[in-house]
Amino acid sequence: MSDEQREFIPPARPHIGEAEIEAAVRVLRSGMVVQGPEVAAFEEEFTKVSGTAHCVAVNSGTSALQLALLAMGVGPGDEVIVPSFSFAASANAVRLVGADPVFADIEADSFNIDPDSVASLIGPKTVAIMPVHLYGNPADMTRLTALADRHGLAILEDACQAHGAQVDGKPVGSFGKAGTFSFYPTKNMHSLEGGMVSTDDAQFARTLRLLRNQGMEQRYANEIVGANMRMTDVSAAIGRVQLGQLDAWTEQRRANAARFDAELKTVVTPPVAAGARHIYHQYTVRVDAAERDSALAQLKDAGVGSAVYYPTPIHKLIPYAHMDVDLPVTDRAAAEVLSIPVHPSLTEGDLDRVIAAVNALEL
Ligand SMILES: *Cc1c(COP(=O)(O)O)cnc(C)c1O
Repeated sequence: MSDEQREFIPPARPHIGEAEIEAAVRVLRSGMVVQGPEVAAFEEEFTKVSGTAHCVAVNSGTSALQLALLAMGVGPGDEVIVPSFSFAASANAVRLVGADPVFADIEADSFNIDPDSVASLIGPKTVAIMPVHLYGNPADMTRLTALADRHGLAILEDACQAHGAQVDGKPVGSFGKAGTFSFYPTKNMHSLEGGMVSTDDAQFARTLRLLRNQGMEQRYANEIVGANMRMTDVSAAIGRVQLGQLDAWTEQRRANAARFDAELKTVVTPPVAAGARHIYHQYTVRVDAAERDSALAQLKDAGVGSAVYYPTPIHKLIPYAHMDVDLPVTDRAAAEVLSIPVHPSLTEGDLDRVIAAVNALEL
């Protein structure tokens, strides 16, 4: 094979096509660039993904989490149970509103928050549970919602990696008080930067809209203290173009994953629970912790980009390390996982190469 044919296959490939560029230019030429008609249309269209009555667009997934927590009234003295095996934003949002994250362990198979661990952590200060649908694989919402109902707790779903994932046909983002999505470039769809909060509660949606815009509905008639977390119309226009592709891209990701499930031999492939629709933001396998660096290097030599999400669980990052919690399943996953390219722009030839490279690993 020539060097041209053996181009490096990146772990993610954000898509910015002509349609996205045209949409951005159209908005720029219109002069209506701040939160306007494109944002309103994007919010309405995204309710089809979230399966909720309302969606409120913001400037990032992290803002979406923060805004939802603020609208829920979560603040100082409150505890929110979160998984440590996630992107730091999940816990950071809790800290940013002045509350305390309490780290739960995960299930060994799904990498998602373990309802038994959650149950053991519920105390007098607990106000909410934040499941993260990691890698696009839905958490066990059946057990988590039952647990939350029993204890009178709210659920805030971090669906920032899980656009279109479902449990028994019900979309993630529609199970709790609110759900949050990210439109960062490497996510399954993007708006350059951006985020969305989903909810079925009209009053809650109004509070979100106030909070993202200085507490105003009418200009200069500020009702409450708010932030500026507005999405631009340029972002929304790009997001709408991407949303039009999401179903096809998701089907391609799932087809790629199905080939990996059937053909990969040297690694432990990710199981999916009955009734769960995994949308493969990442295709994440496990190898022996002692062999992972070697596996990453061997894949790189074969022209296949792989990556570790996340090498350090949140409870071991500097801002949280003082909490000194023991999460053995999380620690093990952080040492063993590795994600291979599963994005929809992979060609059949790319897929063949990824499969051959993984199956040739000497571990
Ligand atoms: C990406 C991500 C976020 C944050 O989204 P941003 O748009 O980058 O702010 C939050 N939680 C999880 C699990 C994510 O993957």
